[in-house]
Amino acid sequence: MHNTSSTNTTTTPAAAQKANARGASFLTVQRQEAGYRPVHDRIHDFGEVEQTLNTRERKQQANRCMDCGVPFCHWACPLGNRPPEWNAALARGEWELAYHLLAATNPFPEFTGRICPALCEKACVLNRFNHQPTTNREDEAAITEGAFREGFIQPRIPLRNGRRVAVIGAGPAGLAAANELNQRGYQVSVFERAEAAGGLLRYGIPNFKLNKAIIDRRLRILQAEGIEFRYGQEVNPTSAQLQTCDAIVVATGTPAARDLRVPGRDLRGVHFALEMLAQQNRILAGIDIPQEERISARGKDVLVIGGGDTGSDCIGTAHRQGARSVTQIEIMPRPVEGPEDPANPWPNYPRTLKTTSSHEEGCTRRWNINTLEFLGTDGLLTGVRVQEIDWQPNPAGGRPVMVEKGEPEVIKAELVLLAMGFLKPEHPHYPDNVFVCGDAANGASLVVRAMASGIETAARVDEFLR
Ligand SMILES: Cc1cc2nc3c(=O)[nH]c(=O)nc-3n(C[C@H](O)[C@H](O)[C@H](O)COP(=O)(O)OP(=O)(O)OC[C@H]3O[C@@H](n4cnc5c(N)ncnc54)[C@H](O)[C@@H]3O)c2cc1C
Ligand code: SF4
Repeated sequence: MHNTSSTNTTTTPAAAQKANARGASFLTVQRQEAGYRPVHDRIHDFGEVEQTLNTRERKQQANRCMDCGVPFCHWACPLGNRPPEWNAALARGEWELAYHLLAATNPFPEFTGRICPALCEKACVLNRFNHQPTTNREDEAAITEGAFREGFIQPRIPLRNGRRVAVIGAGPAGLAAANELNQRGYQVSVFERAEAAGGLLRYGIPNFKLNKAIIDRRLRILQAEGIEFRYGQEVNPTSAQLQTCDAIVVATGTPAARDLRVPGRDLRGVHFALEMLAQQNRILAGIDIPQEERISARGKDVLVIGGGDTGSDCIGTAHRQGARSVTQIEIMPRPVEGPEDPANPWPNYPRTLKTTSSHEEGCTRRWNINTLEFLGTDGLLTGVRVQEIDWQPNPAGGRPVMVEKGEPEVIKAELVLLAMGFLKPEHPHYPDNVFVCGDAANGASLVVRAMASGIETAARVDEFLR
């Protein structure tokens, strides 16, 4: 998730020199983000948009973390990562130590280093002080890429304890659970419905945020460490092939997207966001999708319904497919601009206006818009009738009341992408040796939370089997 809400400022060479001479950059050196490739360069390909700092700048950014009195970052990180420890090692140029400190709490920092919304940075003391938090997420990615490059990351084959555990679903939650159980000595088999592992990392998040070779690189290590992956296997905890296992971890995510059942929903051209995002990632992976099944924005006016991160990923994908125009509408009001909403202060996660790399690439964004009807000719979508609304306090208390404002209007669109979130799955009552984790347990969330849930669930499985 690329959040550009923080300042991207550099320090004067004199200030930096002075700071480095003292070995401290806390409060004296400004936050410097690596930033994105220029729009004109990145808009034509699906390569990762984020750039990297050079080593000197990276160490200087890590050095900004030093001299912090009481850090809150590890409390805010769902994995309990400890940025001050690995930033200290990074600032000293001790890359291998930095990686081991990071890997002590984070099994896949190459994922979070790219796409975590960096909850830790919102809690950073420097963020509280002047809204220029340390660059933990980028530091995390830099440490991990350095570690892969230098060969510090090698398979660790554990001693086996003779027990077997099945993990259903190979998204970040399932992978984290499998990794933790494997390292604790269990023989782990991962059953995945899709043709490859990664879950939404592979079939949701676009390549311009996370290159899929990054997932494959980690999978090679997990396999070398003894985890067995079985693809194209849709199973449930009662499936016969799982009955020889001592425990089963269900990490199946949130398969059902929220729908918009208004007239015209069945017109050709109205799709769930994931239908398009997953298909695009498959095409980039070289999978042959027949032309007539392809969902393409090429030459079309595209309307994205839903103002969140999935919607933002649709915008970036539509641009790369050659959309004529992209509009994003959201039924809720426009969030406040700036680093913090006074109505929702820290330690709550800031619900402020987010401008992602995809928004920067061009998009009309509108809030307080309700969708009334999809319009079409001969079964094909041509537009969407929408209505501007307002939210007014509910005299009876509770949720604000939606009131219409002005006349309905039509937004021209030949492709609509529904990005309105996912339904929280319900599970039957499972036997005691079945454990549910990640989005399957908690509803749609974040990769870092899914991983934390997978690790915590693995610990519960271990406790149960002991
Ligand atoms: C478009 C999009 C963009 C996102 N961007 C970000 C982001 O930038 N940063 C961030 O932190 N989070 C992001 N998220 C959220 C994040 O991807 C999820 O919270 C996270 O992937 C959940 O992990 P999970 O392992 O619980 O589930 P999933 O990733 O959904 O994985 C579940 C896996 O289970 C498999 N499965 C399901 N049923 C079965 C079955 N019966 N048998 C076998 N296998 C099965 C599925 O095929 C899938 O591989 C995004 C989500 C979406 C949709
Ligand atoms: S995983 Fe996310 S919240 Fe945790 S330290 Fe890394 S960037 Fe921060």
